[in-house]
Amino acid sequence: MKIKKGDKVKIITGKDRGKTGKVVTSFPRDKKVIVEGLNTVKKSVKPRKEGEKGQIVETPMPVSISNVMLVCPKCDKATRVEYKIEGDKKNRVCKKCNVEL
Ligand SMILES: [Zn+2]
Repeated sequence: MKIKKGDKVKIITGKDRGKTGKVVTSFPRDKKVIVEGLNTVKKSVKPRKEGEKGQIVETPMPVSISNVMLVCPKCDKATRVEYKIEGDKKNRVCKKCNVEL
């Protein structure tokens, strides 16, 4: 998968379009990632103990990686990622500034 945990990404569709955040979890099988603080839904949490109040918490939902773009740490632009094959190594490269990511 071209987007990895720890990457900074920009969301390109939906209500958080244009916002950037850090990938905190990735789901390679589903081609989805969770971006810190983005694409959240409000969930109500029921009180677990008697006397406790129910709460509304915002939980980030997975975003399809086709809806995010990597933000290059070097040139700070949202970019498509390319792979450069060197021998048996596959390196991710920023399409804009050609820096290895
Ligand atoms: Zn770059």
